[in-house]
Amino acid sequence: MSIDFIYPEYEVVRNQSRCIACRVCERQCANEVHWYDEDAGVMMADESKCVNCHRCVAFCPTRALKIVKSDDTYKVNSNWTGDVISDVIRQAGTGGVLLSSMGTPKNYPVYFDKILLNASQVTNPPIDPLREPMETKVYLGKRPTEIRRDENGDLVNTMPPHLELSVPILFSAMSYGSISYNAHESLARAAQELGIYYNTGEGGLHEDFYKYGANTIVQVASGRFGVHKDYLEAGAAVEIKMGQGAKPGIGGHLPGAKIVGDVSRTRMIPEGSDAISPAPHHDIYSIEDLRQLVYSLKEATEYKKPVIVKIAAVHNVAAIASGIARSGADIIAIDGFRGGTGAAPSRIRDNVGIPIELALASVDERLRQEGIRDEVSIIVGGSIRSSADIVKAIALGADAVYIATSALVALGCHLCRSCNQGKCNWGIATQRPELVKRLNPEIGYKRLVNLVTAWGHEIKEIMGGMGINSIEALKGNRLMLRGIGLTEKELEVLGIKHAGE
Ligand code: SF4
Ligand code: SF4
Repeated sequence: MSIDFIYPEYEVVRNQSRCIACRVCERQCANEVHWYDEDAGVMMADESKCVNCHRCVAFCPTRALKIVKSDDTYKVNSNWTGDVISDVIRQAGTGGVLLSSMGTPKNYPVYFDKILLNASQVTNPPIDPLREPMETKVYLGKRPTEIRRDENGDLVNTMPPHLELSVPILFSAMSYGSISYNAHESLARAAQELGIYYNTGEGGLHEDFYKYGANTIVQVASGRFGVHKDYLEAGAAVEIKMGQGAKPGIGGHLPGAKIVGDVSRTRMIPEGSDAISPAPHHDIYSIEDLRQLVYSLKEATEYKKPVIVKIAAVHNVAAIASGIARSGADIIAIDGFRGGTGAAPSRIRDNVGIPIELALASVDERLRQEGIRDEVSIIVGGSIRSSADIVKAIALGADAVYIATSALVALGCHLCRSCNQGKCNWGIATQRPELVKRLNPEIGYKRLVNLVTAWGHEIKEIMGGMGINSIEALKGNRLMLRGIGLTEKELEVLGIKHAGE
């Protein structure tokens, strides 16, 4: 028994009376958990390699498999929990930073679950979305501040560039490299069919996906991977990534092993070289610097495309958003600390940033107070899990939401939080061809279309119940919200009353 020994987190439970030794689990598992013991004539498992992605469970034809949390525990200690002890042992053995993926699993408050929605009863009656029109379309970008007419009295169109969405949902940034070609294709096709947008992330735009440009947001991050004139012109909007909810204040790192073939060409970096995005943009140290980049990108795209600035939700987010609104950006995207990632240091992911609900409420309030709310639209992301979360986010002041984890779950992700290992058994967070082909984009895009369509129906139903017939009327309508089990301070930051008031 070595000093580094850590008991596996999960146990593979195989019902031998059901197992027919078909070896499907062995073939499905890129982590090499299962193998066939020729001498004993039975399947065996190495639990230490299991990430609990449930691929084998889903494909076992006889339902012989269960993956369960190991009950081998350290001596119970509320302070020194098993996870804490295991992490110390790992770091003492390797001297390295612990990496993980997806959003934080820590038990922080989810304010969406402590907010309840209103419904009409006698006065202001509910609206039946099956019989009466409901408007879920939204436009993102600056609002014109005045109505102008020419000398003939005709309206002069002063509409700044904007994005038009059929529902207030966009697919959030996920780079080609961190996710597979087939995952990107699924997102791009779904965005086109739904009349919404997907986001390239910082990995550039694969040449095959230029045809989806009208539904694409192209991202410019600190590493500037894959950024060139055609790329900027291909998208419907340009997003400057200043921060990410899962890892505020630090850069990104896609290991050289994932920089292969098309990924390296699309990023415009040599095969096998690590793709390091620095923590800061080396040309941005102030709002004035940001303004220069915003206007450089507007200039490069002939002022035809809105520019989004994406930031992580951090302590002084309202002041930062105020500066961004004044930088000339058309849209602010705020990513909450529960947001997902392909890879992040676990300590950063689990300890830095603030919940999106609090960030959104304070940003909306600050921009209103300063009279500049119409200067920018607000997109929020960071663990939007359902249509109810979306309705609550809009009532707290968002114009639309970014979804990513829920989109990946629709594509098959089982939230095993092992994307950083590049061996995603569901064909999403991997570049290994034999795994990538497991995700059929034809099926993937339809599942995304289904998810967003279902959420669109539910949004209409919830709004109808409130007697509201448009997203515009819901936006920032905090009277529709009540808190439950929240402190006075939390209610104050959220700008809502307590249930019963
Ligand atoms: S997939 Fe199921 S039936 Fe087939 S070998 Fe594995 S556990 Fe046995
Ligand atoms: S994308 Fe794949 S590797 Fe990442 S959490 Fe989901 S199933 Fe696991």
